[in-house]
Amino acid sequence: MTTREVWRYANWALSTDTSGSGPIYVAECTSCGESSGAADDKEGPETWCLKHAGGTGHTGFRSVITSFFRASLVEGPR
Ligand SMILES: [Zn+2]
Repeated sequence: MTTREVWRYANWALSTDTSGSGPIYVAECTSCGESSGAADDKEGPETWCLKHAGGTGHTGFRSVITSFFRASLVEGPR
């Protein structure tokens, strides 16, 4: 039995993926866990934090930003 292995060395690059959604912003209260919900910009979640603080007295928040990347092969000498 003969086993043949092929190894290919290549360079990969990582860049921001602009083919789909942009970054997604969410704010979460660190006291009760309530969430602002997802938004396309940070202003909505930030406004939600202020309203939540005013309504509950909770003052700690976690900002979660999800970004998307795409790996692609880089052409060049091997
Ligand atoms: Zn809260």
